[in-house]
Amino acid sequence: MPESFVQHDIRESFYSRLDDFVARHAGDAKSFALLIVNINQFRRFNTYQGYRLADELLAAFAAYLANVARPQDYIARIGNADYAMLLPDIHNEGHASLAAIKLIENLKEPLVVSQSPYRITANVGIALYPQHAEDGEDLFKCAELALNDSRNSLQSYSVFTDRQQPVEVYDWNIENDLQKAIEKDQFDLHFQPQIDLGSGRLFGAEALIRWKNGERGFIRPDVFIPLAESSGQIVEITQWTLNSALWFLQSWPRELAGMKVAVNISTKMLSEADFADMVVNAVGIYGVDYSQLTLEITESALVEDVSTSFRILGELRSLGLNISIDDFGTGYSSMSYFKGIPATELKIDQSFIRHVLDNQMDQHIVQTIIQMASGFDLTVVAEGIEDQETFDKLNQMGCDIAQGYHIARPMPRDDFLHWVEQYRATHGASVEKIETANNSPPDTAG
Ligand code: C2E
Ligand code: CA
Ligand code: CA
Repeated sequence: MPESFVQHDIRESFYSRLDDFVARHAGDAKSFALLIVNINQFRRFNTYQGYRLADELLAAFAAYLANVARPQDYIARIGNADYAMLLPDIHNEGHASLAAIKLIENLKEPLVVSQSPYRITANVGIALYPQHAEDGEDLFKCAELALNDSRNSLQSYSVFTDRQQPVEVYDWNIENDLQKAIEKDQFDLHFQPQIDLGSGRLFGAEALIRWKNGERGFIRPDVFIPLAESSGQIVEITQWTLNSALWFLQSWPRELAGMKVAVNISTKMLSEADFADMVVNAVGIYGVDYSQLTLEITESALVEDVSTSFRILGELRSLGLNISIDDFGTGYSSMSYFKGIPATELKIDQSFIRHVLDNQMDQHIVQTIIQMASGFDLTVVAEGIEDQETFDKLNQMGCDIAQGYHIARPMPRDDFLHWVEQYRATHGASVEKIETANNSPPDTAG
C-alpha cells in the first residue's frame, strides 16, 4: 500500500475521532482543546540520520507524548512530523497553555533513540472547542493557524486568535462597510473595569470598541482598526469613541465621579495636526474633568516618531489628562528617552502577565517595569489577569492597578454599571480577594 494512502487513512481516522469529540461536547458547557504538535527539523533528521533512525525517533516521540498525556487524552500522528492531541476537560486558554508548556518543558530532557540521546524541540498550536470553532474542521484550521503563528514567532506554542485568520476571510469591501457602520451607528463601546490592587477600590475602566456588522456579526477591533487606519476612517472612529466615552463619563452616577475612563488612541491619530484640539474640544463639550480621561497609546506608536508624539502627549498631559503607554515592554523603548516619556501610566503587555507565574524571564521583566515606573512616579497597570494566583502575585510585586477576565470581561454600558453596583455592594471600599470573575456577562466580541 503506498505511503500516501496510509497517511490519508491516519488523518481520516483522526478527523472522525475529532468529530466524535465535537458531538460528545456539543450542547453542554464542557470544552476541550486540540493541540497540533510539530517536531522541529524532522526532515533534516531524516536526511542526515537516515529513515530508520528517524522512525525510531518518531516512536520515541510518540511514547514521550503518551507519557506526558493524561489517561483521558487522545493522541494521533497526523502527518510526517505532526501529532494531534485531543484534551478533554480543558476549559480555558491558560489551562491549554499549561498543557503545551508541560509538553515543551519536559522535552528539554533528551529522547533516547537507539541508545543515544537526541535533543528535540517542538512547536504547538492550540485551539479550543467551542471558544474558537464549533465544528471539527474549523477547529483543526484554527489549531493549524496557531501552529503556523508559533513557528513564525519565537514562541514555542501559540493559542489561536482571530488575528491569525487568513486575510481572505476578511477580504470584502470593508472600507465601504466601515463607512456604513459609522452612518448606521453599528459601533458600541464596552467597558472593562480596572481596580486598585492594594485596596480593591474601583479605579476606572477601559473603553473597547465593538463593531456589530449586520451580515458578518461581530468584527474584532484588532481586525478592523488597522484597516480603518490605512483608509483614514480611523479619524472619524476615534472621534466617535472619544465622544461616546466622554458621554458615558458625564452620565455616571455621582458616587463614581472619581473614576477614570481610558480610550485607545491609534498610532495614526498622533500625526493628525489637530489631534490635541480634537481632544480638548470633546472634553469641553461634555464638561468632564481632564483627570477623568486617560488616553492609551501603544509603546510602538510612541517610538515611531518620538519627537511628534512626545510633543503632543506632553501638551495633553500638561492639561491634566492621563497618558497611558499600552502594551509596554514590547516596543523596545530605550532608557535614553524613557526619562522624558510624557506618560502618567505604564500598562504592562499581556504577554508578560500571562506567564508571570511560570516564566522567570517574564517575571523579571514585570518586576523591572514596576520598579522603573515607581522611580518615575508612574502608575503601573497589569492587564490580562485571568486568575487569582496571577492577581496575588502582581499585588505582591507592587503593581498598582489590575485589569483582566478574572475581574470582569469588557461589558456593554448597562451591564458595566450593574457590575459596578454589585461590586461596590459586595466589596465596599476595601477588598483583597476578587470573587466576581464568573459573574460578568460574556463579552460577545472577545
Ligand atoms: P488593547 O488596548 O491591548 O486591549 C486589551 C485587549 O485585551 C482587549 O481586546 C480586551 O478585551 C482583552 N482582554 C482584557 N482582559 C483580558 C484577559 O484577561 N485575557 C485575555 N486573553 N484578553 C483580555 P479587544 O477588546 O478585542 O481589543 C483588541 C485591541 O483593539 C485593543 O488592544 C486595542 O489595541 C484595539 N482597540 C479596541 N478598542 C479600540 C478603540 O476604540 N480604538 C482604537 N484605536 N483601538 C481599539
Ligand atoms: Ca488598551
Ligand atoms: Ca494592551
